[in-house]
Amino acid sequence: MSKDASGLDSGSDEAPVASLWTPRGRGAIATIRVRVDVRRWLPTTSLPFQAANGRPLGVQPLGRVVFGRWGSEPAEHVVLCALDEQTLEIHCHGGDAAAARILNDLARAGCRVVAWQEMVTIAEGLVEAELFEALSRATTLRTAAILMEQSNGLLRAALESLAADTDLKSLDRQINALLRWADFGVHLTRPWKVVLAGRPNVGKSSLINALLGYTRSIVFDQPGTTRDVVTATTAVDGWPIELSDTAGLRENSEPLEAAGIERARGALAEADLSIVLIDVGTPATDDDRKLLAAFPTAIVIAHKCDLTPFHGSDAWEDEVAHRWLRVSSKTGEGIDALIRVISAQLVPMVPPTETPVPVTVRQVSFLRRAGAAAERDDLATCRRAIGEILR
Ligand code: GDP
Repeated sequence: MSKDASGLDSGSDEAPVASLWTPRGRGAIATIRVRVDVRRWLPTTSLPFQAANGRPLGVQPLGRVVFGRWGSEPAEHVVLCALDEQTLEIHCHGGDAAAARILNDLARAGCRVVAWQEMVTIAEGLVEAELFEALSRATTLRTAAILMEQSNGLLRAALESLAADTDLKSLDRQINALLRWADFGVHLTRPWKVVLAGRPNVGKSSLINALLGYTRSIVFDQPGTTRDVVTATTAVDGWPIELSDTAGLRENSEPLEAAGIERARGALAEADLSIVLIDVGTPATDDDRKLLAAFPTAIVIAHKCDLTPFHGSDAWEDEVAHRWLRVSSKTGEGIDALIRVISAQLVPMVPPTETPVPVTVRQVSFLRRAGAAAERDDLATCRRAIGEILR
């Protein structure tokens, strides 16, 4: 896109763009941003605004805050400011009605009203729009801090360095350095999926509640009681996770059918981490063995460790003592240790400060394409894919 000295696209037919800049919903103040050639547009456009200082909008200096009224009576009280030569900001009452009214008037005055993401894309680029969008969806301080760092130019600088490079070896190295954090970056806005598996009544809902720290799902005493599938989103160690129960394993208390295991296997295949629970207060069953065999990479929990462990031919004594994590959802024993293990398995390495991280599936998929092209010495395709990210 070619931009003239004012930063706007050259060609005067480019319409000014207006957007609601603050989140919708209750708020004391709403901000509307207009991207326009302020010096040319304001003096020649009739907007229903009367400044309290009585001067027309077109002669108000840049950077000066202007109080005034917008529209016919009952008018909106607004604060207006041309932040720079391309940006006009209008602050009004936070309700939907005031902002809608002003946006309507702006549309009538020739503005194209767009979502804020499009405005950022136009003004700064798609990568920034994606980063801000990701930041707006961050659910923890830890993920927000990383996204903030990326939004402050870190990711763009890394991508521009790629775009400027023509050496395939160096491109390959830089692309791989970025892709190393691809899975991590995408998870900053998509919770890691943690699936709990275990036969009915082993305490899956109780463990979810214990991890959440409050009682969200109802715990029943009867095994196999029909319940909704439990899913809950929380954070461990600042990483957002979605905890869920394997629905297939809780439909009834009959021995697990192959199909049940298959369904659970499906759920677990999609999971980033699985946890198998074993009730240490009761004898080991074939179901337990099947689950352990089906999910060999799962974290295994010796659950209900507050109970006297079952001692008998079907006890898991050795495993409980040496290999499994002893947890009681009732007393809280082992919950902290479990949280540490979950966090360490999901995020074994945190990117050091100042590390560029791709954060959207789109960025990652073009990076992968660029990486594959670099590997087969196809510079043109590699550069095209990098160009697509920066589009
Ligand atoms: P689910 O069917 O696997 O979801 O199991 P629930 O969470 O519904 O728990 C089944 C029963 O086990 C309930 O009576 C719980 O109170 C009990 N329970 C759950 N966790 C523990 C625990 O850590 N210790 C003890 N003693 N009982 C527990």
